[in-house]
Amino acid sequence: MGLTEQLQALYQVDSQVRGLRTRVENSQRYLDVQNRHLGELSTQLEEAELRLRQSEASLGNLENERDSVQARIDKLRDELNACTTSKQYSAVQDEMKLLKEKVDEYDEQALESMEQIESIRELVAATKLKREERETLQKKAADDLEERTRDVGERLSELERERDGAAAILPDRVLEVFNHAANLNDGETMAEVLEVNRKHREYVCAACNVELPFNTLVVLTNSGDELVQCVGCQRIMYIAEDLKAALSK
Ligand SMILES: [Zn+2]
Repeated sequence: MGLTEQLQALYQVDSQVRGLRTRVENSQRYLDVQNRHLGELSTQLEEAELRLRQSEASLGNLENERDSVQARIDKLRDELNACTTSKQYSAVQDEMKLLKEKVDEYDEQALESMEQIESIRELVAATKLKREERETLQKKAADDLEERTRDVGERLSELERERDGAAAILPDRVLEVFNHAANLNDGETMAEVLEVNRKHREYVCAACNVELPFNTLVVLTNSGDELVQCVGCQRIMYIAEDLKAALSK
């Protein structure tokens, strides 16, 4: 078996390994995205719930203060009846007036606070809903990944063993070039030479269409053991047997 055939054998199995791995990696990536969204929503929910608790607590304080001022007013009303002089009477009345203003102020603040609490409650409810929806997506993504990993797992280890076997017979230098070309081209490591015009010696890479120097053809037809890469995409070039035969004449 010549170098080209060995490379093609490796290519055939390597591209399958990469294809299966990509499927699992895509599932993993999708799950990662769902996890990230879920984390963000959980943080948003925690923050909104904290704000809600704080707002409810400060409304509670406000209401307590208002009630104590109101109690003081009620007490003063009783005192008013016990007043003996008009001077005393108007002093108590003045204090009551001030305190009533205070109560009005508290009531106004409480109303604002309740509106705010209402809108935070709505935010909490909407965020909870979003998180539930995201949880459904996240769960499905996790199931998909598990299923895909299971489906692919056995076949993948089988193919990986085959690939290791095909790679073992190749020199390190060749493997390095192969892996580099494979990474650059998403596993489409090899490409055929395409004849455009024999008379004008026009040949291109079938994958990227870049015109190949004629020397590429010379090397490929003369020996089967030299590695030639496309000048455009770095794929490893091979030539069809009939074209090789025609050019060798
Ligand atoms: Zn190319």
